[in-house]
Amino acid sequence: MGTRQTRHGTRVLKRWLARFALVLCVPISLLQSQGTPQTRDVVITGGWMFSSTGNQRVRNPGILIRAGKLLRVGGDISIAAADAHRIQLADTETVIPGLFDLHAHYAMDLFNAGRKDETTAYPSLFLANGVTSTWPAGEMNPDSMRALRIRIDRGLEPGPRLMNSGPYFGTARPGWKRDISVDSIYAEVDHWAELGVRGFKAKGIAPYQLQALIERAHQHGLTVTGHLGSGFQNTVNPRDAILMGIDRIEHFMGGDAFTPDRSAYDSYEHMKFDTPAFRRIVALYKQQHVYFDATLSAYGYYGKKDPVVFSYYTDEKRFLTPYMRAIVDARPPRPVNQQFENIYWTKRKEVKAFYDAGGGDLITLGTDHPSWGEFFTPFAVNRELLSLSLSGIPNAAVLRIATINSARAIGVGDKLGTIEPGKWADLVIVRGNPLVDIRRVRLPRLVIKAGKVYDPQSLMKSVEGKIGPASAADTAAWAPTPPRPRP
Ligand SMILES: [Zn+2]
Repeated sequence: MGTRQTRHGTRVLKRWLARFALVLCVPISLLQSQGTPQTRDVVITGGWMFSSTGNQRVRNPGILIRAGKLLRVGGDISIAAADAHRIQLADTETVIPGLFDLHAHYAMDLFNAGRKDETTAYPSLFLANGVTSTWPAGEMNPDSMRALRIRIDRGLEPGPRLMNSGPYFGTARPGWKRDISVDSIYAEVDHWAELGVRGFKAKGIAPYQLQALIERAHQHGLTVTGHLGSGFQNTVNPRDAILMGIDRIEHFMGGDAFTPDRSAYDSYEHMKFDTPAFRRIVALYKQQHVYFDATLSAYGYYGKKDPVVFSYYTDEKRFLTPYMRAIVDARPPRPVNQQFENIYWTKRKEVKAFYDAGGGDLITLGTDHPSWGEFFTPFAVNRELLSLSLSGIPNAAVLRIATINSARAIGVGDKLGTIEPGKWADLVIVRGNPLVDIRRVRLPRLVIKAGKVYDPQSLMKSVEGKIGPASAADTAAWAPTPPRPRP
């Protein structure tokens, strides 16, 4: 434990020193996504609280929000202004921290013909689902995603805190040069850091490129995560990326059970976790304090859509335009990818094995479904919560995964992720006890971001009929050119 803390501390210190070396590039991203604080006080009394600081749901001690922050959690809240917005919880209701989706694609792939980031309906839908922070994990249209972040931060439209990722680094980016130079990677990292991204995503990246990306990102105090491989075809095994200093890993943990003679998917499909190879990779994550984003339901989505997880709890297709809805309703279901179906069930065992081996503080929540119209990513957060719960992880730990773990993983754990005085006021008021049934997080009563109170029903109403082309003439804008990355 001591060694792990020390090494982690050393890494953090190195990053800070490196940041001062690049004073001109100190990221404005630390200031980004703070939201526009609402000036009126908010007082929340009654009901229950799960603060993500422990395992228990406790009586709500009384919460006072001022200027977008949690001023008091318990103690004297009578100092609230006379005109405070007062919210009384029912005895069945629970206030929890805002949810954090750390692999939150805004991307749509409505015609199976290339992905496009959707910036009209998704921001409201994320917020309506209690998701107050998102990191898009590789943007298809980084300029439009940056513009969206700025509009949200200025209070011009509702949406979660958007911590931009910028474009993919690797072959997942259309037009990526396979022989890109180290200097070009440095220049790109500098460019996107100046534009305020909060971290980088590698996918389909070669070893020397990943090394350069990690080094330069850390000089800016920014994190790197990767959808990596087995070493097959010049990919990087997560094990080797961890030794390079990567901060987080998406999808699969890697290690010696992944061999360079076959793809990661082929190695992974029927993997077992009671093995020395798994114990070695778990030890490496814990020693280097690297986070793992399990993205369970993304694989279920491409597989047979486990009916327990992929049931509708609201009519999601109402957010499509009438023209697009008719197309989605008429076409046959997307073909099942049997390998991804197998991986879905394998992943459920892997994440539980990692939790049991003491990795519970290193698991994050990521949804990662580019939608093709029948299910939408903002609702996938609840599918991921359910998948994690069904894998056998206790619900209190699942909620910490979805809140404080994800906040820490991207470097904002001191500002977000728990209900504690001084933190930014991002909260969700849910209608029951999520420790008994994680599905109680669905369709929350109220969502608060930066102290501003939102009604999820109004948010959803405002974006009905908005997703997809309005007519055949509009279709080309929703079908960009391939290549289409795998999840
Ligand atoms: Zn992804």
